[in-house]
Amino acid sequence: MAEAGSFAEKVKQQADIVRVVGEYIRLRKTGQNFTGLCPFHQEKTPSFAVHPVRQIYHCFGCGAGGDVFKFVMEMDKCAFPEAVRAVAEKCGIPIPRPRERTPEEHRENQARAALVELHREAAAFFARQLREGAEGRVARAYLEERALTEEAMDRFGLGYAPSSGDALLRRLQSRYPEKVLEASGLFSRDSGGRFYDRFRRRIMFPIANDAGKIIAFGGRALGDDHPKYMNSPETPIYSKSSVLYHLDRAKEAIRRNDGVILVEGYMDAIAVARAGIAAVVASCGTSLAEPQIKLLGRFTRRVVVNYDPDTAGQAATERSLALLLEQEFDVRVLALPGGADPDKYLREQGSEAYRNLLAQAPAYLDYLIGRARSMDRSTTAGKLAAVNFLMPYVQRLPSRLLRSEWATRIASELRVDEPVLRESLRRAAAERRGEVKPRPELLALPVSPAERRLMQMLVEAQGFRQKLSGEILAGGLHLGLETEKIFAALAARAAEPLDAAAFASSLDDRDRRMLFEILFEESPEATWEEAESCLAVLRQRGIERQLADLQRQIETSVPPEQLRGLLEERLKLQRQMHAAAPSK
Ligand SMILES: [Zn+2]
Repeated sequence: MAEAGSFAEKVKQQADIVRVVGEYIRLRKTGQNFTGLCPFHQEKTPSFAVHPVRQIYHCFGCGAGGDVFKFVMEMDKCAFPEAVRAVAEKCGIPIPRPRERTPEEHRENQARAALVELHREAAAFFARQLREGAEGRVARAYLEERALTEEAMDRFGLGYAPSSGDALLRRLQSRYPEKVLEASGLFSRDSGGRFYDRFRRRIMFPIANDAGKIIAFGGRALGDDHPKYMNSPETPIYSKSSVLYHLDRAKEAIRRNDGVILVEGYMDAIAVARAGIAAVVASCGTSLAEPQIKLLGRFTRRVVVNYDPDTAGQAATERSLALLLEQEFDVRVLALPGGADPDKYLREQGSEAYRNLLAQAPAYLDYLIGRARSMDRSTTAGKLAAVNFLMPYVQRLPSRLLRSEWATRIASELRVDEPVLRESLRRAAAERRGEVKPRPELLALPVSPAERRLMQMLVEAQGFRQKLSGEILAGGLHLGLETEKIFAALAARAAEPLDAAAFASSLDDRDRRMLFEILFEESPEATWEEAESCLAVLRQRGIERQLADLQRQIETSVPPEQLRGLLEERLKLQRQMHAAAPSK
């Protein structure tokens, strides 16, 4: 894909795949490779590997693999040219000229850029309104009452939308075409079709995407206006279900700590961040959407949910928690005393008390068992109710092992001794309700060490790739092997330099996975001597296969005049085999 001399090739040569992949998932150095949790399938133990020398990635679980561009294309769901640009930007490689776009793409990009710019200006406008004027003073007083200093207002970009109803409109309408104003979601139309400010008399919280660009606002009513909280509507740059408030500022800390606190509202996130815990995001509501979970999963799989699961929105909270479990997050629950939200609790009790509770936040299972325990379990019916309360959670767990662990824990914690209850728990643990995504079977293919080594050499041994492929083709050494097609394709390319990832992508899926697994094996510098000994093994195997064929023919009843010829042939092959045996 990266043509010689092209910008893509230049980027590929200069880019560091470890750094780029590391922006999306946590990587740890293990041996010569880096490993982490695969972003392309759900897993708890890392089977995703990045090879810093070969500049490729491969998942031993689901088989995803490729070069740095493929990775970005898959993660960002973008096309090759965008991936090249993205990699160049991430690695600080200057981009020569704007890429060619279709007129339609060009218009869409311009429209998005205009919306982002409009939001930036709107945020600056709201912030100024908060600092200045009589209305701003009232808003500031409200925030100060909630212990927000001016420094904090600046830091989180807070603002104020005045009550006039057209202050923002007047500020922006001469600068943006009507279509952009309309698409921004910041204006509504009255019955006469005239624009007016959507947000009025509200404290404004800028909502940024994970790259830190403001793409929407949340507004809290200053008085008793309804609704208390109002968000931007969906726009070309904002989709509520795929944004987490404060993620742009939190992501470094989330990666560093491998964990995040999930809170409900803007003020909660701000309060927790101000208490010195940077790894906090707000879902802006108690229901968490799957894209938000996927987004979070790019940074960590350990989350402390600091909603109050017992009060309003409980059903939504439980759905969110269940969704996190399904996605194999390690979930803990922090329920603050008296159902307080984090903002209120931190104001009243201080950060020390909050940190203490945070450290003790129970695993979700323990939290649920605690709730089941508080039910009346003096009768069998009561116990049944408690077990039935827990069962749906057990069944949502994707891993059978985990389900069975939970069932055992539940049985012992709730002292479930009745065989009937035990049996129903056992059954719940054995089955999984809801959709189950089949995991691709692990490939266990019989590929000998000699074949593996030869493939590595055909990819990398610059000094003798061509000579080696000549030997293989001349002797037909690859014929009949599981790896026959890979060898044939590698040999056909031996005359020119080879880009392993691009080459692999030309293979069918099974062969691509096989080649990637082989490329991830530890390998010393290859010598021709070693190549020869590997070739000898393949020759030997070839003769063995011919011998086995011959033996089958001999064993089936053949006429005596043919048998003689076959036996002679066998003797010849046996001699060849001794001659070809690699010297020990
Ligand atoms: Zn995977």
